[in-house]
Amino acid sequence: MSNILENPKAELHIHLEGSLEPEMLLKLAAKNNVSIKYKSIEEISNAYKFNSLQEFLDIYYQGMSVLHTEEDYYDLTYAYLTKAHQDNVTYSEMFFDPQAHLARNIELGTVFAGMTRAIQDAKNNYGINGSLIPCFLRHLGENDALKAFDKLMDYRKYFIGIGLDSSELGYPPGQFKNLFELARKEKLKLVAHAGEEGPANYVWEALDILGVDRIDHGNAIHSDQELIKRITKDGIGLTMCPLSNKCLKVVPDLHYHQTRNFLDAGIKVTINSDDPSYFGGYANDNYQALINDLHLSDKEVRQLMQNSLDVKFK
Ligand SMILES: [Zn+2]
Repeated sequence: MSNILENPKAELHIHLEGSLEPEMLLKLAAKNNVSIKYKSIEEISNAYKFNSLQEFLDIYYQGMSVLHTEEDYYDLTYAYLTKAHQDNVTYSEMFFDPQAHLARNIELGTVFAGMTRAIQDAKNNYGINGSLIPCFLRHLGENDALKAFDKLMDYRKYFIGIGLDSSELGYPPGQFKNLFELARKEKLKLVAHAGEEGPANYVWEALDILGVDRIDHGNAIHSDQELIKRITKDGIGLTMCPLSNKCLKVVPDLHYHQTRNFLDAGIKVTINSDDPSYFGGYANDNYQALINDLHLSDKEVRQLMQNSLDVKFK
């Protein structure tokens, strides 16, 4: 590991359910009597080989079905924040998928109680700060998102923004216009996954129709010079996730990753882990992968870390 990785940084694109490590998955499945397909850590690791976003999502939703009690959500969140602290992450904005838990009849109060208690304990024990951003599952459509948003409003003080994730192709951001209008009225920060598997046009929609403050992924921006200009001019942050892109074959390999092109264009690009348990690493593993494959200089790495501190919400 390069020494520069010891510098402070923020992580702005991490799905807590995607930090569920195989050991915890097996332990919680046994404790909560949830039957899963896998009997060993080896079987789980072998299943974590994906050819597309959808192949990953199918396993991801199965994995999170072992989360039941407040203690489970606490353990999940605290384990992630411990790893983040070890990578010198000083602040993290953490995504989670409320609809995926509501669908299993888990109360949002249970989810928030576990997560917020873990954030407080991690702050006391490590000095790390954390905020929550619930994301909506685009494959369920806007009506389901609006119902979940209504329930979330009972817990408004526990989160700082909303996001949009899950299957991208076929679900352009514009389909969620009403949801984002409501959230803006609530003074919530707005983010959306866009341009990961979807085209540059989805990024335009996220900016112009949803009015997002940041774009998650945004790989497709490279194909559109006007879009690059717009994102640079407005100082829109981009939360990129190299190991995720490699695993899901968004780029053929990391030698082709867009990070340096975006840095050179003056975009506020940041480096993040997305779903670290599934994609082979936490924040610093992602920086290290780009140092190895794109040969990023210390100056470039420092800029990426500074960007993360510049475009965080708190
Ligand atoms: Zn993501």
